[in-house]
Amino acid sequence: MKILVMSDIHANINALETVIEDAGKVDRVWCLGDLVGYGPDPNECIKKIRSLKNCICLMGNHDSAVLGNMDMEAFNRDARLSVEWNQKVINPENMNFLKNLPEKHVEEDVTLAHGSPRNPVWEYILDWQVAMNNLDFFETSFCFVGHTHIPVIFQLTEEELGSQLQILSPVGSVELTGKAIVNPGSVGQPRDRDARAAYAIYDTESKIWEPRRVAYNIAEVQNRITKFGLPERNALRIADGW
Ligand code: ZN
Repeated sequence: MKILVMSDIHANINALETVIEDAGKVDRVWCLGDLVGYGPDPNECIKKIRSLKNCICLMGNHDSAVLGNMDMEAFNRDARLSVEWNQKVINPENMNFLKNLPEKHVEEDVTLAHGSPRNPVWEYILDWQVAMNNLDFFETSFCFVGHTHIPVIFQLTEEELGSQLQILSPVGSVELTGKAIVNPGSVGQPRDRDARAAYAIYDTESKIWEPRRVAYNIAEVQNRITKFGLPERNALRIADGW
């Protein structure tokens, strides 16, 4: 089975549509959360995800914040203003869709979570230590997460001197082995200094993880961010990937 794995759309419909088209024919879509926040197109993105067949979508921290389930102190100013704008424009039907998103999902020997298996909505797995501490929190071989907007593979392999956690940068396809925590990066707001939308294709038979990048029309998204009066930084950062 070929699966499109993506995360952190952040209300960027140009990036989302480009990724779906670039991925081509897939059997399943796994979306790891944060459909909304930052970008200008929350309703369009939710509608697109709802229209996909065989798609499982998780709850992200921005989705949860828009629903009013989060202490807004935890958000920076731009994120908070974006959440408040989202709350005004998202229609009731789409709000209801967000409300019913699960925090975790297990399928095909993979655990899915937005942030981490230990704290699905909030925890960032940014380094070796945090990845290591999370290994005991999922029973499947692999765990796919988003949230950091940075593509990465933490892979635990058995060596002669005991097990070892390797950090692989996502260049080229990798066969996942042992136990691994894997992040496809962000569709709508990459933060690894590469402005192209990030996603991955995972093959459940071969266990091959194929990271991908695709360019999309950033200027159109920036124009709408400005038009709707969203924070200027939301427009600036998507051009440079930060
Ligand atoms: Zn995010």
